[in-house]
Amino acid sequence: MIFDILTIFPDLLDSPLNEAIIRRAKEAGQVHIAITNIRDFATDKHSMTDDRPFGGGEGMVMKPEPLKAAIDSVKVKNSSGHVVLLSPQGRQYNQKVVQELSSKEHLILICGRYEGVDKRLIDANVDDEISIGDYILTGGELAAMIIVDSVTRVLPGVLGCSDSAEKDTFSRKLLKHPQYTRPRTFEGVEIPQVLLSGDHARIEQYRFLESVRRTLARRPDLIAQEYGSFSKDEVKLLKKHQLFDQIRTTTLHTGP
Ligand code: SAM
Repeated sequence: MIFDILTIFPDLLDSPLNEAIIRRAKEAGQVHIAITNIRDFATDKHSMTDDRPFGGGEGMVMKPEPLKAAIDSVKVKNSSGHVVLLSPQGRQYNQKVVQELSSKEHLILICGRYEGVDKRLIDANVDDEISIGDYILTGGELAAMIIVDSVTRVLPGVLGCSDSAEKDTFSRKLLKHPQYTRPRTFEGVEIPQVLLSGDHARIEQYRFLESVRRTLARRPDLIAQEYGSFSKDEVKLLKKHQLFDQIRTTTLHTGP
């Protein structure tokens, strides 16, 4: 998978994309990440990448010509590519979009700044606009890093343990169960005894029930989406623990 990130602040991205799992994925050739400075494509003598908005008003707007040249330069190098503009006005980013993007061979991520990007550039060159949440960042760099990080970790072979991404929160519409490690007693609190039983089937059931309880309490909207997807065995277990009726009631109130 190739990521090309277009930005006017390349130094911002350097360190976070060169540590831990991302660094290992780069070294293993599973991802290739290139950062392009949009300023290198400015044509005037001051290397301007922004200008005042037509019609007046606050702030500056990113100029279309340097961005267009930057996009074309990475397309030439790597053939086509799925062009994504990070924008608070884009579609909401979530694990489903992570999976969708992970099937692309080449992502070109444009980091906006100031008041955003000239609309003509967006209309003619951008395939996708993505928002990482309902808040405003100073620029798209942190959002681009979130995309690179979340997409990289679902690529085949990137995580050490092959099934750990599959069992993550959001892989189905359930939050992951709580986790414990040594010591067995911390500040007087013992870990749940079932985790010491060595009985893997019981441990799986316990974790599934905890996962459901947690999702019911924290994210009723998610459990409503999972309602029709429980297997026969899961429904039996949920009924035994008086959870199935709670899920049904929550679903009726929240709706999928
Ligand atoms: N004036 C713009 C508006 O009201 O929609 C906000 C511009 S913001 C200060 C500058 C840049 O940060 C945006 O062009 C975008 O690239 C990035 N950005 C800000 N918030 C974002 C978010 N929630 N998701 C993705 N990118 C974001």
